[in-house]
Order: sequence, then C-alpha cells, then structure tokens
Amino acid sequence: MSAALMPYEEALAKYEPVLGVETHIELGTASKMFCGCPTTFGAPPNTQVCPVCLGLPGSLPVANKAAIEGIIKIGLALNCTIVEWCRFARKNYFYPDMPKNFQISQYDEPLCVDGHLDVEVDGETYRIGIERVHMEEDTGKSLHVGGATGRIHGADYSLVDYNRAGIPLVEIVTKPITGTGDKAPLVARAYATELRELVRALGVSDVRMEEGSMRCDINVSLAPRGSAEWGTRTETKNVNSLRSVERAVRHEIERQAAVLESGGTVVQETRHFHEDTGTTTSGRSKEEAQDYRYFPEPDLVPIAPSREWVEELRASLPELPAARRRRVQAEWGLTDLELRDVVNAGALDLIEDTVKAGCAPAPARKWWMNELSRRAAEQGVELSDLPITPRQVARIQALIDEGSLNDKLARQVFEGVLAGEGDPDQVVAARGLKIVSDEGELSAIVDQVIADNAEVAEKVRSGKVAAAGALVGAVMKATRGQADAARARELILEKLGAS
Ligand code: ZN
Ligand code: MN
Repeated sequence: MSAALMPYEEALAKYEPVLGVETHIELGTASKMFCGCPTTFGAPPNTQVCPVCLGLPGSLPVANKAAIEGIIKIGLALNCTIVEWCRFARKNYFYPDMPKNFQISQYDEPLCVDGHLDVEVDGETYRIGIERVHMEEDTGKSLHVGGATGRIHGADYSLVDYNRAGIPLVEIVTKPITGTGDKAPLVARAYATELRELVRALGVSDVRMEEGSMRCDINVSLAPRGSAEWGTRTETKNVNSLRSVERAVRHEIERQAAVLESGGTVVQETRHFHEDTGTTTSGRSKEEAQDYRYFPEPDLVPIAPSREWVEELRASLPELPAARRRRVQAEWGLTDLELRDVVNAGALDLIEDTVKAGCAPAPARKWWMNELSRRAAEQGVELSDLPITPRQVARIQALIDEGSLNDKLARQVFEGVLAGEGDPDQVVAARGLKIVSDEGELSAIVDQVIADNAEVAEKVRSGKVAAAGALVGAVMKATRGQADAARARELILEKLGAS
C-alpha cells in the first residue's frame, strides 16, 4: 500500500515546508552514562550490563563527567549558551528495550540552549537555529526474529540486547527551519552533514550513521503558500544516512501535499523511513510531553558546570570545520566551487595531510582530485579507502619536483603503489621508471633520433622549428617516456642549429 504523492514541483508551488531535525548522537566515552559498563560496539548481546543499566532495584546512577564534557563541547561548538544549573528528568514510558521503564533525560532544563549552525546549499548560507542540546541515555536494542521486514509485525519472537542501554546520548533539537522552499531536502541534508563533521572534529563521537551512533528524526509540515499558520507535522524516526535524510524530507513533502490536496488532514504521528523504497509509513500516533509524566530525577544531583570549566572547554575546542574550510580555501587559493568539489569528494583531509607531508597545495589537489578520484570511481571505493597515503602522494610529487619523474611516469608510480608494489621509491626502482637525466645518455639518444629521421631534421635545420615536435616524440618513445621532454627539445634544437 503506497501513499498518493503530489509531484515535487507542484507541491512546492502550493505549499511551504517547515522542517525540524532532532538528532541523537552517542558519545564515544569509554563507559556508560550512569555506570561503569564498557561501550564497545558489536560485543556479544548482554555482556556489557550491570545492575544500574539494567534498572535493578536499589542501584544508583552517577553521571559520567567525560560525557558532560562532551555535550558542553558540542553546545559550545553550536554557539549555545551553557546554563549554570540544570537537572536530569525521568521520561516515563514502557518499552522492552528500556529495562528501568523510564529514560533518564532532560526536560524543561536542558544543559545547552539557543545556538545556531550555518550550512551552505548551492552557494547560499542558511542559519539553522538550535533550540536545545540535552543529555540523556540510550535504550537497548530489540531484535525481531522471523517475519519478512525485521519489524515486530509478523515476527515469531523478539530478543533484546541491553549493551546499548545507558550509553551517553546527546539530543540536538533545531528550531523550526523555515524559508527553505524547494531546497528543504538539501538544507536538511546539509545540516546533518555539517553537524556530523562538527561532532567528528570535536572528537566526542565517531558519528557513524550506519552503526546508529548518529540518528536523525525529521519533522516536516506544510503550510499553504501565503498562510501564516503551520500545518500538522509528522516525525520520521531514526533516519540513518545523509541520503535518507534528503529523501525522507522530499517524500513527506510529496505525501503531505497529496493528503492536503485531497481534502484530508495530516495526522500527527511518527513515521518509519524505508531505505529500499524511499517512502515512509505510519508508526504510532505521537505522544504529547504530558504522556511521559516527566519529573526531576531524584537519584542524581543537578549539573552545575562552573564558568571556569566551561571556558576551559571553550579554549580546548579544535578548529571547527567551517573555519577550517575558510582557512584552507585562502591558503590553497581555491574558488568557492573548487572548495566545494574538494569537500564533496571527501578529499579535504587527504589533501591537507599531503600538504603537511611537504607537497605544494596545487599538485596535492591535482593528484587527489584527478588521478586518484578517477581510480577510486573506477573501483567503486571512497577516495580515503584507496591503498595510498598522503605521505606517498607527497613523495611522488617530490620526485617530480627534483626532476626524477615526469607526470606520465608519476602515473605509473601511482599505479604501482595502488597495486601494492610498495612505496614510491620501491616502485620507481622495481619498474625502472627514473627519467633519463644523464646528459650524455640523452645526447646519444638525440643523435640517434636525428640520424633516423633525416628528413624531419632537415626541416628543422631550415627553420621549421615546429617540426622538432616529431623528434621530441621519437626521443620519448626511444626512452619509453623516461626522458625530460623539455631538455630533449633543447638538445635537438641545439644540435640542428635552430635554437
Ligand atoms: Zn551498567
Ligand atoms: Mn531523545
């Protein structure tokens, strides 16, 4: 059963989308939020649990300082105010993957409030307001066995793994995002991308969407164009790839527009996103905050970060992605478009590391963006997964700079390194790729080429300098491309009295 859709352009002509994104990020702390259990991903089920994260009677939670440090860093990087005093709250609900029957979260007293993150789409900057960033704990994981979809419907039985229960979770909630028009799906994607880069740069989470350490809930509503009133929103839960973020927004716009157009009403509910079809289906009707019976968590002391500590953390922030892009763009002399290409190709780190290894920015960018991007595309892998390091790329360029290689030979060295033949110098030695730089050897080859091509040589002698190109070609052929072509040309012209 698939929902009726309105074509995207038509939907955008009639309605203005309003977005909201709630992102959950698992922090990469060594231990859980309120107990000492380890947090390693992929451990056998229920091997990383204790009375606290299993919610056994009498157990008492203690907050993880490293996690509080992590969330404050995220809040600061998102330009938020870090409040001076706040509390944890109990969010009460029953779900089998949550053994305490409540989640320790924050309700009306979040730790970080009122920030923003700038994102760029097609050369235009959108400032995404951040409503709040709060601290909570993750739930366990249910596994539904039997049935076709992996969902609970149709399953024969369900298993539950509490290893993830109690892992520190930061929830980042945007303010309503308006005024994006037909760019809405791209803005949502750009926001998730930038947020992921930001948190990765902070080093507080590995932000792997495919492993669930970053998950986005996407709110979408539509307002008729010209209307001041927003429509009813839906919340598409746990979208776990950047591409899916974009597709989920687009699908909800098309679906809700069709519902409204047919005179129906959009139901406030959570929805599931299906990767295979790019569609959403109805989940459960959305609870209101009052359904959770929030109250301050009595087993934990308030969080009251001192201003000194906050300032210490602010001073410890690394260079953030936006600042880094601006710096690199200036240092490398890139246009906006060139910078965007580098970022989209996932080449920024690689090029920067190549430059750090002693290579000039222009050739570093050239190799990664041309030769190596092409080879990565051919093999269907990410640029960073190619078996070559920035240090090796820098070494190949150094061999070019010192005159031992030309571009053509360098390509063969790249080929050798990628084929696992060793470091650039090993490949050069094993494949015999050094430029013929011995002047005597080159001179002899030039003499031979002139003798073998008497007619062409005569033309050059009589002033047709352009004909020398054919002789240079013959020298390159004779040396299997290993001569310095510019030097060969000089020698030819000298010997033929045409220089
Ligand atoms: Zn535990
Ligand atoms: Mn949450």
